[in-house]
Amino acid sequence: MCFGEYLLYKGNNTYNINSCETIEIFYDIRIDLDKLKYAVYITKIINDVTTENQNSYKILQLFLNTLYVISKTEKDLDLVISIFRIRLMSIIGFRPNIDKCVNCGEKDGFEYFSFLDNGFKCASCGKLDKGAIKISETTKDAIRYIVLSDAKKIYSFEISEESKRELEIVSKLYLTEKLEKEYKL
Ligand SMILES: [Zn+2]
Repeated sequence: MCFGEYLLYKGNNTYNINSCETIEIFYDIRIDLDKLKYAVYITKIINDVTTENQNSYKILQLFLNTLYVISKTEKDLDLVISIFRIRLMSIIGFRPNIDKCVNCGEKDGFEYFSFLDNGFKCASCGKLDKGAIKISETTKDAIRYIVLSDAKKIYSFEISEESKRELEIVSKLYLTEKLEKEYKL
């Protein structure tokens, strides 16, 4: 869990490291098993969604911001992970539809999150979607905030325990469905 700047040169088949400079070692993660567990969890996911030689700036930014929050703050780790999941999905092409009901286009009264159609659904459409989950107003606002807010601000909000639970369920299912893989914490 160390962020550094590496100077590489290309050999025939591999890259060789010329020099490396440490930028951030996230020391607090090393001395707290709980923090380490969550950091390892997000690292596994990041490894799966990035490929060599591709510009992954936004993913790196999210990764570093998340490690920073885990390391330096006492923010609820389950909430951190939920936010991370939703934001990551938005970056890699699975941004949930949060503007209108994904089925009928209605712009108000969303009550469900649909995994089938990737986003909010109104009460009547949501009821017909067997896999959709009913979510509260706060959870809906939180999802909207996570998707839309500035990269540096995604972790700066608090919600009720009930909404935390909802966000955890929605984000976990969404990630599992989209990446077609289950990650254990
Ligand atoms: Zn609808």
